[in-house]
Amino acid sequence: MRAILLNPGPVSISEGVRRAAVASDLCHREGEYFDLQDRVRGKLTDVYQLDSACWVAVMLGGSGTTALEAMVTSLLPREARLLVLENGVYGERLSRLAEIHGVDYEPLRHGWPDAWDLPRVAAALASKAFTHVAAVHHETTTGRLNPVAELAQICARHGARLLLDAVASFGAEDIPFDSPALLACAATANKCLHGIPGVCFVLLRRPDLDLAVTPPRSLTLDLTLWARHQQQRSTPFTPPVNALLALDQALSELQHAGGWKARHAGYHRLAEEVARQLEALGVEALLPASASSCVLRAWRIPPGHDYQQVHDGLKRRGFVIYGGQGHLASGMFRISTMGDIGHYDMERLLVALQDVFSSTPG
Ligand SMILES: *Cc1c(COP(=O)(O)O)cnc(C)c1O
Repeated sequence: MRAILLNPGPVSISEGVRRAAVASDLCHREGEYFDLQDRVRGKLTDVYQLDSACWVAVMLGGSGTTALEAMVTSLLPREARLLVLENGVYGERLSRLAEIHGVDYEPLRHGWPDAWDLPRVAAALASKAFTHVAAVHHETTTGRLNPVAELAQICARHGARLLLDAVASFGAEDIPFDSPALLACAATANKCLHGIPGVCFVLLRRPDLDLAVTPPRSLTLDLTLWARHQQQRSTPFTPPVNALLALDQALSELQHAGGWKARHAGYHRLAEEVARQLEALGVEALLPASASSCVLRAWRIPPGHDYQQVHDGLKRRGFVIYGGQGHLASGMFRISTMGDIGHYDMERLLVALQDVFSSTPG
């Protein structure tokens, strides 16, 4: 039996994507590879129908965090002052990246399950102390969907540029690309796009490609270097060829399935089915559904159960879920509805949840 992945990436992939990943051997210095590279970059900007005169997709090898590190190291000039919004593991990771690379930054801390305090953000930006803001769209720690459109408006009002971690939302949630404040957005192949791990990317505004940090803070993470090569049908280093083959197929499948809005609706429907079942079994959500992304919701472990028992019970029935992180580790579990999950899998999942949560705890 194929295990269905309900963790927040990597996701269960389609047979088409699985086959595409191993379909051919490809030299990354040949025309066939550059055709693939051009095609995938075009499909990435097409996901949100972006004007290719304004936006460019820059791909590089690595996980979602690699894209975040490339964004932070390549797009923040040495004189930048960065405000980082934290309300979970991934916001804190943005601060960590700024810290490691010597970026002058200040965290704006919130409790993990808490919503951003937008008046506080506006007050911080009104002080004119910050040139840039870094923030997470879907904070996977708790499943919270942060209000990035409002944030982008506040940034625009105060002349700050926004760097967005859209790793767990790109392809399934609305992203404010039309806001002039949005400078770049980082994401990965193996979450809402249903590709395989290995390739990540940053979408950035074309005029800002010239804003190279000199000297660069990194060689392999230098987005302007990758961008320059990719625009000239070249690549500075060996790219993750097989992950690109898979992503090419995954992006075609996304398009055929109706694009990001259809994917959003599909994830939401599955999340609602799971929620109805869990609530009927007395399991409480960490956040209200209205504050959660369509991608993932967090649940409290009910009294008498523990994470290991819930995880192992579901795994025996063919489903992999995810625990909590940090101080939320013991009392919580998370279920993502990303990936190639069909009706049959869903019906089995509802039964598996029933079995696990109505069994005598212990
Ligand atoms: C998954 C995720 C990341 C990146 O994780 P990797 O393990 O590096 O792929 C970053 N931000 C968010 C919000 C995520 O969900």
